[in-house]
Amino acid sequence: MPVLMPALVEAAFDYLVPEHTQEGTLVEAKLAGRSLVGVVWDAQKDAKEIPLAKLKPITQAIADLPPLKREFRQWLDWVSEFTLAPKGAVLSLCGLAYAAKATRKKFAPQEFIVTLPKLTKGQNEVAEQLIRPGGEQKPILLDGVTGSGKTEVYFHAIAEAIAKNTQVLVLVPEISLTHQWLERFEKTFGAAPCVWHSRMTPAAKARAWKAVVKGEVQVVVGARSALFLPFHKLGLLVIDEEHDPSYKQEDGVLYHARDMAVIRARVEKVPVILVSATPSLETLENVREGKYRALHLTERFGAAGLPTVRLIDLRIDTPERGAFISPLVKKAMLETLARGEQVLFFMNRRGYAPLLLCRACGHRFACSNCSAWLVVHGKSRLECHHCGHKEQLPTECPSCKAAADKLAPCGPGVERIAEEVRDIFVGSASTPTLAVLSSDEAIAAETWAEIEAGKIDILVGTQMVAKGHHFPRLTLVVVVDADVGLDGADLRAGERTYQLLHQLGGRAGRGELAGTVLVQTYAPEHAVMKALVAHDRDRLMALEARERKAGGWPPFGQLAAILLDGVDEKKVREAAQMLARTAPDDKRIRVLGPAPAPLSKLRGQYRYRLLVKAGSGIHLQRTLKGWLAGQKFSGVRIKVDVNPYYFM
Ligand code: ADP
Ligand code: ZN
Repeated sequence: MPVLMPALVEAAFDYLVPEHTQEGTLVEAKLAGRSLVGVVWDAQKDAKEIPLAKLKPITQAIADLPPLKREFRQWLDWVSEFTLAPKGAVLSLCGLAYAAKATRKKFAPQEFIVTLPKLTKGQNEVAEQLIRPGGEQKPILLDGVTGSGKTEVYFHAIAEAIAKNTQVLVLVPEISLTHQWLERFEKTFGAAPCVWHSRMTPAAKARAWKAVVKGEVQVVVGARSALFLPFHKLGLLVIDEEHDPSYKQEDGVLYHARDMAVIRARVEKVPVILVSATPSLETLENVREGKYRALHLTERFGAAGLPTVRLIDLRIDTPERGAFISPLVKKAMLETLARGEQVLFFMNRRGYAPLLLCRACGHRFACSNCSAWLVVHGKSRLECHHCGHKEQLPTECPSCKAAADKLAPCGPGVERIAEEVRDIFVGSASTPTLAVLSSDEAIAAETWAEIEAGKIDILVGTQMVAKGHHFPRLTLVVVVDADVGLDGADLRAGERTYQLLHQLGGRAGRGELAGTVLVQTYAPEHAVMKALVAHDRDRLMALEARERKAGGWPPFGQLAAILLDGVDEKKVREAAQMLARTAPDDKRIRVLGPAPAPLSKLRGQYRYRLLVKAGSGIHLQRTLKGWLAGQKFSGVRIKVDVNPYYFM
């Protein structure tokens, strides 16, 4: 029988399996001398008969775990076909190795005592639709402003799934940022969900994994990788913050967890709820075409209204020389602090400054492995944000030998903004407390608790502060540089900037107090900025849709990126040119490039890119497969990213 192994293999191999073994059964077998856990796969139609005598036997079937469901296997096949990743590579995302791991302790069952709060009338109508959708089951978009009770409402759907004794998977963008969500879940359901994350011990993972496969654990919450858990009786899928870019996996199998989740739900006939205050254009288009169904929550719960958003035109309200915070913002900050409320500065760049420049000769410090500038961190170190290379801050310019005082950090990072804010209070009677929140430092639960309790006056943070948190005394949010995300090659730049800044604004005034968002920009007439002020997401998205439609970009056309890399630039370039020359001769396809990738060198590898655009009437994957079949170039790796999100 065919057995699919979690390895870089395109298809299942035949093994000698005991008669009457069911498809989907987990088995241990050897592949290239290694013992792995694989799955008895479905018989392939055009499979060649291999003489019994030639077949290798499996080592053993794993008897204490149920077979993986047919629908789940079909979905894995589908993911492989969509992403063009080998089937075995997709299977290796499912954690089968845990099946062979002995677990002494049993998974502690979740005992839920559900205490849901009473919903408002509007919330209740939406919850009813979630629980009893009626008619054809379509993916549901739960669309509502931050604080409108989306979480409260989908908790009702989870309660229903629990009552039916089915399993629930909730996907969240980043598990490390969900502690408030977890607390809330536990308060509502009387027990914690099973949290699936990379920092679990192998034993804990094996325990949880087996419980998932046996159907013993009811609610699992995790980041994108949790989507590949083989649930025994999945009854509901929730994708929180469905627009979040972190759902795209950029390594190994290149998949988008939201899109794959929607397919999984369809194949397994399970309801799926996409949740967002700023849905992706993809999802909005699916709603418009009637493929998804949208449910709306239009009002914030309780007293708080939407925050007031004001643009600060940096050309008029210019910060002092060498500073990044405008006089108006400074004034607003002082007023907010005087009222005993909190202020958040958002600067979406780690470190102190994105560049170190020699003022004597103009030399810029670049990474030796990458085509990228080194970022200044603290007062002592340079770091490459692409490969992680670190070095001491130089004592002189390597190019003109000028002394260290000529080396100037250029531009702001989150640490520099924190320094500027601290400097404002030097010599003043009272010094506010300040915390810097960026992924450079592990943020302790106590820090979050202090912030929530209002013990910290000023927060300075990267995008990690935009997500999930609820700070009752935070009433002023300052976007230090709203233009950062707008330039670059990303076709979703405008959409993403809006989503991020809007979500950030949602942190302001979530309690009783009204919030203000001050957005510093050099481009106040930009459509994204106007939409932020007017809270007019729909207009911006309509504009985005028009532009992407005109250009034939996703979701109005298909797109794939072909990325080539290798240590020898010439070889990589020639391979890319060869690919371009052999592109399929089809009017429905356009090949852009080859061109050096924006990040043209990474970790010592030179990178070239082709973009393949296709209309919707063509099977893009099949075309790519035919084109790339047999194209091999020594010393050059070829990677295909179907529907890319990362354009560097
Ligand atoms: P969203 O997920 O849309 O951001 P939440 O579900 O987090 O909104 O709700 C925002 C806040 O309002 C939370 O503190 C939540 O507990 C509270 N809330 C929302 N709806 C209700 C309700 N019906 N009863 C009590 N509290 C509610
Ligand atoms: Zn580097």
